[in-house]
Amino acid sequence: MKFCRFNDDRLGLVEGDLVYDVTAATAVLPDLRWPLPRGDVFFAHLDLMKTEMQRLRPDAACLALTDVCLLSPVANPGKIIGAPVNYLLHQDEANKDAELNFGLPVKTIDDLGLFLKAGSALVGAGEGVVIAHEDRRTDHEIELAMIIGQGGRDIPQADALDHIAGYCIGLDMTIRGTEDRSLRKSLDSFALLGPWFVSADEIADPDNLDLELRVNNAVRQKSNTNALIYGIARLVSYASRHYTLDVGDVILTGTPEGVGPVQAGDRLVCAIEGIGEMTVMIRGKS
Ligand code: MN
Repeated sequence: MKFCRFNDDRLGLVEGDLVYDVTAATAVLPDLRWPLPRGDVFFAHLDLMKTEMQRLRPDAACLALTDVCLLSPVANPGKIIGAPVNYLLHQDEANKDAELNFGLPVKTIDDLGLFLKAGSALVGAGEGVVIAHEDRRTDHEIELAMIIGQGGRDIPQADALDHIAGYCIGLDMTIRGTEDRSLRKSLDSFALLGPWFVSADEIADPDNLDLELRVNNAVRQKSNTNALIYGIARLVSYASRHYTLDVGDVILTGTPEGVGPVQAGDRLVCAIEGIGEMTVMIRGKS
């Protein structure tokens, strides 16, 4: 199943080029009061939501996907977890490029662990990315994003895939520099999820998906998740040995080689096999 959040927090089932407005399904979600439970309430009730969305689908209003503004399919993740260097060829390019490494050896998860991105950085494909500091190099990083469906801690690698609700395309936008990753990668709009959510049952093998990113029609990044250093299950297991994972948490799996700068006016097309394709505009500060 593919679904999206669009316009003013509408909920849509995605089928081909169409979106069916099933916003009324959210009426069955619990009325929450302070203090809120941890985790994204929509994904905490995902099975119920899937049933309700399907029930409403026959009578739902239908729109063209090209006519809606796509928001992040996950509204309230407790954590957005990033994997710093998780493709060997990206590690190689970073070690060769002084604009990426600033004179320091580029290490992997074994040395660096993981990092967190701010919730305030989260946007969807229709909102685009804002370049806040035009004097700094700002790079695209396409990444497979996984959404936790069942939380836990110390999750064995053998069980890890059962904890994943589904997948999105992620953009881990990054200012290059020496500051901590949690600063450089957490500017507003620097955590982009889209174009929609694809449930895990539609992705037979998340460790074998082609991914590609084009800037103004030129291919910049092209790889496959089979080149990940920490594969999907290992990454979930590793993260859960440090953070308790909550339902709705997002894990960005790291970017392959080909990272490069973007500027206001650029048009990104990002595609991951089994998920789809999204267009993302790069905007200046307004
Ligand atoms: Mn990244």
